[in-house]
Amino acid sequence: MAIAVYPGSFDPVTMGHVDVIRRAASIFDTVRVCVMRNPDKTYTFSEAERMAFLKESTRELDNVIVDAHDGLLMDYAVANGAKVVIKGLRTIADFEYEMQMDYFNKRLAPGVETLYLMADNKYSVLSASAIRQLMAFDGELAGLVPPAVLEAVADRHKREEQNQ
Ligand code: ADP
Repeated sequence: MAIAVYPGSFDPVTMGHVDVIRRAASIFDTVRVCVMRNPDKTYTFSEAERMAFLKESTRELDNVIVDAHDGLLMDYAVANGAKVVIKGLRTIADFEYEMQMDYFNKRLAPGVETLYLMADNKYSVLSASAIRQLMAFDGELAGLVPPAVLEAVADRHKREEQNQ
């Protein structure tokens, strides 16, 4: 059984993330998408929402599990029998960051390899933070995030309008 972990904050999940998950799911027996909890970070969407969006967006992929973890990613990988961690690479900035991460992750778990999937051209400048900025100014999100996120953003917007 080849198990891979795909970690992230997924605040919220974008079509770029979904593309990476689909591609990883076609290579590995099981892909564990892991929402990493970071106590120093504040999130736009709750952990429950982020997990629900991921579950809804990967519903047709029956070898994908959505999970959450606080603490070190490598501890999660080892505890779940994963020999591979998946990362998406968009730009040189991602590459530089991942180069550093790899050094520390290898020290923590030498038996776990990180595999980098190049972002699809369509999504190479798409990030969760860009989505959050668009949300703040009520920008169009269709095609950038899965339907579950579109619906949640529309609901939020409606509630905000009612409260004004
Ligand atoms: P973001 O970087 O968008 O805030 P995360 O931190 O949740 O999102 O990213 C989780 C993983 O997904 C990282 O490996 C990141 O490089 C990758 N990723 C993010 N956006 C994309 C994208 N548009 N295409 C491919 N991979 C991506």
